[in-house]
Amino acid sequence: METTFRLPFNSLHGQHDSLEVEMMKLVKEVYQSNWFILGERLQKFEKEFAAYSSVNHCVGVGNGLDALKISLKTIGIKKGDEILVPAHTYIATWLAVTELGATPIPIEPEQNGFNIDTLLLEEKITSNTKAILPVHLYGYPCKMDQLMAVANKHGLFVVEDNAQAVGAKYKNKMTGSFGHINATSFYPTKNLGAFGDAGAICTQDQTLAHKARLFRNYGSAVKYENDLEGYNSRLDELQAAVLSLKLGYLERWNKERLSLAQYYSTQLSGLEDILTPTYSSEVLPAVHLYVIRTKKREQLIQKLNNASIQTSIHYPIPPYAQKAYAHLGIDINRFPLANQLAKECLSLPLYPGLTNAEQDQVIEVINSR
Ligand SMILES: *Cc1c(COP(=O)(O)O)cnc(C)c1O
Repeated sequence: METTFRLPFNSLHGQHDSLEVEMMKLVKEVYQSNWFILGERLQKFEKEFAAYSSVNHCVGVGNGLDALKISLKTIGIKKGDEILVPAHTYIATWLAVTELGATPIPIEPEQNGFNIDTLLLEEKITSNTKAILPVHLYGYPCKMDQLMAVANKHGLFVVEDNAQAVGAKYKNKMTGSFGHINATSFYPTKNLGAFGDAGAICTQDQTLAHKARLFRNYGSAVKYENDLEGYNSRLDELQAAVLSLKLGYLERWNKERLSLAQYYSTQLSGLEDILTPTYSSEVLPAVHLYVIRTKKREQLIQKLNNASIQTSIHYPIPPYAQKAYAHLGIDINRFPLANQLAKECLSLPLYPGLTNAEQDQVIEVINSR
């Protein structure tokens, strides 16, 4: 489907090709076990992922959106509640909020970054505010100290959307371990990707973990006894087996992603009209996307495409400007920074297996404008 480009925007070959024999062995094992849902492979992965994430509990679910939704449901979010969310994010963050009947309150991004501006949180808090839902966008951690301080001061829950940042650290602490209950996605192209849909909830709190576990399985802990009005959203045995194997390589892949990002940034620094991503020395990013900003985006995309290099945009239309949310009646002009990001962001190819020589092709086109 995307083979028309000499250099695709993304490729999973670098991760998967060398794992094929091991992977097929796992698939066969799951096949022969004849046990596909809520089995020992999920229990094993949940233990491993909790340990990796420095949390006490991990609950595997069907996908990242469900992980967010069940996290919010678990802390009791309901109609009328207000949740502070980034204005600039993937729509899934907002969909989890609105599906529960709660109201997303958009917060502008930082001046020179992509993440939620923690200095703007406090002025948006009302008596209806229940939680803050930060997103570690593109794999770069939010300013969690400031964010947790605001949450603690006002008695708010924090639910991290860690879908793009598995393996990232803020002040030496894993993202996805700060909030009361946190969600992540194992969508195939995420830093840790399954062979289909999958997601997880992480928390330090045993009571919240237990409740989330009920919600993902029809509200039931004992077969045919339903304590809560639950969902059907489980991480299946095949995905759990795949994720266990891939988790062993995640640190290596994340290191590679970071070094590829650093190579781009070094080579593209100082170019007129190109802003490369910056981050403070207190964070270790788990680079998910390498996103530059340029006022001449269309022109640059065309040039790269002409050189058979594929790019992508994350994200061209902010959630508040989507047709799906016309009914929220949000005044788009209130978010100049998020609007600007939607116009200027451009994602360049970055994935384990990409070579510096391939990056040079991209860099050369950008340099030769
Ligand atoms: C991918 C993603 C999600 C949703 O994950 P799915 O597994 O696709 O449901 C949520 N939030 C963010 C920021 C994401 O990037």
